[in-house]
Amino acid sequence: MGSVKDYFSSLGTGVASLLKGMSITGKEFLTPKITEKYPENRETVRVPERFRAVLTLKYDEEGRHKCIACGICQRNCPNGTINIETKMVDTADGKKKKKLDKYMYDLGSCTFCQLCVSTCPQDALEFSNDFEQAVFTREKLVKQLNYLPEKEEPAPSPEELAKLAAEREAKIAAAKAAAAAKKAAQEAAAQETEKPQE
Ligand code: SF4
Ligand code: SF4
Repeated sequence: MGSVKDYFSSLGTGVASLLKGMSITGKEFLTPKITEKYPENRETVRVPERFRAVLTLKYDEEGRHKCIACGICQRNCPNGTINIETKMVDTADGKKKKKLDKYMYDLGSCTFCQLCVSTCPQDALEFSNDFEQAVFTREKLVKQLNYLPEKEEPAPSPEELAKLAAEREAKIAAAKAAAAAKKAAQEAAAQETEKPQE
């Protein structure tokens, strides 16, 4: 008796499963098709914004990027895909500053994990959804991301120059005062040790 009950029970489960599968098939049969006729529809093909095709540096309307060449993205990349080359430039206040020279990115070894984007402290990177990246040799997959000519830093105004000069003078004066105080302390200590013991 038990085996007859089991037979009908499993038959019922099988029929329910079959009906469920057929309902999904029927639903998909009636759903509008989304197959893309690429490349015939190249002009109209819609690629989701979130699709990660290639790493890019964000440029603003004035043609400037925000990369400060800190190298955090390079250190966080698990594949050695990023290579940052830097250069030293003179600033308006007479100091040296490290700047980005070349941002090299090898699309051929990128796994699109987005660690570089999410760890950049400047929000300087993003992924473009430009998916047409096919080339004939692997070397061509290595791209320089800072592709625009470097813009000159805006010249400081007379007020800013005066402020920088004042800050420099103040630093020099503070350094001199500290050196004088240190020397006086050393002389006082030397005199103390030279005093005859009573
Ligand atoms: S892209 Fe961001 S993390 Fe990478 S070097 Fe530039 S500022 Fe640093
Ligand atoms: S997405 Fe990942 S693998 Fe690609 S460059 Fe960024 S950190 Fe490296």
